[in-house]
Amino acid sequence: MDFSLLLWLLLPVAALSGWLLAQRHYTKKQSVREYLPYPDYLQGLSYLFDEQHDKAIEVFIRLLEVNNDTVETHLALGVLFRRRGEIDRATRIHQNLMERNNLHPSQHALAMLELAHDYFSAGLLDRAEALFWKLVKNQQYRTIAYRQLLQIYQQEQDWQQAIDTAKAFSRDETIKLDAVIAQYYCELAQQAYQKQAQETALSHIQQALDRDKQCVRASLLEGRIYLEMRQFPAAISALQQVEQQNPRFLSEILQPLQQCFREIEKTEQFIQYLQAILERYAGTDTLHLLAQITLCREGKQATLELIHQHINTTPSLQGVADLIQFALPDAKGHLHDGLLLLQKITHILLEKRPLYHCRECGFSSKTLYWYCPSCQQWNSIYPIQDAEYLYKH
Ligand SMILES: [Zn+2]
Repeated sequence: MDFSLLLWLLLPVAALSGWLLAQRHYTKKQSVREYLPYPDYLQGLSYLFDEQHDKAIEVFIRLLEVNNDTVETHLALGVLFRRRGEIDRATRIHQNLMERNNLHPSQHALAMLELAHDYFSAGLLDRAEALFWKLVKNQQYRTIAYRQLLQIYQQEQDWQQAIDTAKAFSRDETIKLDAVIAQYYCELAQQAYQKQAQETALSHIQQALDRDKQCVRASLLEGRIYLEMRQFPAAISALQQVEQQNPRFLSEILQPLQQCFREIEKTEQFIQYLQAILERYAGTDTLHLLAQITLCREGKQATLELIHQHINTTPSLQGVADLIQFALPDAKGHLHDGLLLLQKITHILLEKRPLYHCRECGFSSKTLYWYCPSCQQWNSIYPIQDAEYLYKH
């Protein structure tokens, strides 16, 4: 917000504060002229207009010592300083408010909340954490305090603390955090996996699945770990869970699943599985992989028939690219040149298209994130279906 706009917003507040104070003095049968803080208030505003913020704060803090009627104005001013990135000034105002002994409890709690936000913005996470834990006891700010605590533990990657806090938060709330807690367990599993502690990783994965049976990430990681441990049937079983959990993520299991079936020399079984999920969900990546396998095993004609059969019902850029690739060797003259140009264009489009997008904010990327870096939500990013991409862009 523009600072001059803030000042215009503060003027009526100042006027109202002055009027209220004047009213109070009238009731005490005192002259308005005896009311001195109000001119000081205007002096404070004047400093703000002149961008002399520290002098303005001095005036406002001095005023607060005289009366409590301007607390709301101080709070508003502190928030706006923070939004302008002037965290030190915001902190000073909120700390000063917190030190008042005569604040109403609701005002004191609000000042504490704003100060906690100041500390969080300044990266003083331990101080913010301490205040948010105090605010958890306040019914009015309980939810916001818990959410901020989860933000802090996520930022610090303290996943165990995040789990404990989320469990405490969801204990008596209607809000369900099971899917988020499962993600925290996956983070613990990921950390253990990176340290080669596979058994620990698998136990965290089980905790994730106990919390949220639909946790695709847990099953993908479980599949990868069993694959590396060369326990192929266990890996296949984990990866195939994804179909029940969320078939939109089937594209993520194709490559590791192919490797597992190859290792146990059951390619035929893998092809049957691909055919089955292609019939049920018509995935572009499934069709592409099945086409590649069909080309090796049955030749070009069978592959073209397969692609034709599915591209009519599920149009996809990858399907078009595959068709061009198969048609190109037999094409002559202008047709050949035209197909070459089309091949080039489809390759550019395939190269540029994002593979994942967030359903909440529209963020897109080539990497699968479980926590959207844009809108900061868990479980909101999905693989993009090819047809969906074609129709949207
Ligand atoms: Zn998002």
